[in-house]
Amino acid sequence: MHSTVLQLDIQGTPQAWISLEEAALHYATCSVAWEDGAGPLATLRGGWNVAAGRQSLIEVAPIIGVRGQAKLNLFEVVAGVTKSKLLRRDRFTCAYCGLEHPERLLQVEHIVPDSRGGTYTWMNLVTACADCNLRKGARTPEEANMPLVYLPYVPTRFEAFLLEGRRIREDVHSWLAARLPKHSRLH
Ligand SMILES: [Zn+2]
Repeated sequence: MHSTVLQLDIQGTPQAWISLEEAALHYATCSVAWEDGAGPLATLRGGWNVAAGRQSLIEVAPIIGVRGQAKLNLFEVVAGVTKSKLLRRDRFTCAYCGLEHPERLLQVEHIVPDSRGGTYTWMNLVTACADCNLRKGARTPEEANMPLVYLPYVPTRFEAFLLEGRRIREDVHSWLAARLPKHSRLH
């Protein structure tokens, strides 16, 4: 069910969700510096040890710290905005009426309108219901007299991995959740 492994760099910064096979390759090349999580995710068969006359087994942990991966400072890399991540950041709640709505009724709203130079970035986007979005139109919240009921923010990398909305094993979820900043709405 949960066959993805959370790959971290040596400092513990999330790098990617990887498959069991990709994780096994890191084990096979002795690149796994440390493991975390509540126990093995899976046991895979490794190479055949001729001398010992048996096949080695690789126990893959749900969270692995891998050596020599990060070349750039990933703390500076901001996760890309997608509608699904934005809606999760904002807890499926419209920034204007403050009501929770089903995903299909929610839209990505530019606080400063697109047509007025507003950018498609975490700090200029909020979740809005179709009604509020239509009512606000190409105006700023001040002009429309529609104040935001919550403020936008840029998710950290730990948060971005949770925002992807995939099914995450409980121990991996807890590991990421424990590293969220105080202001995160995912708490
Ligand atoms: Zn609304």
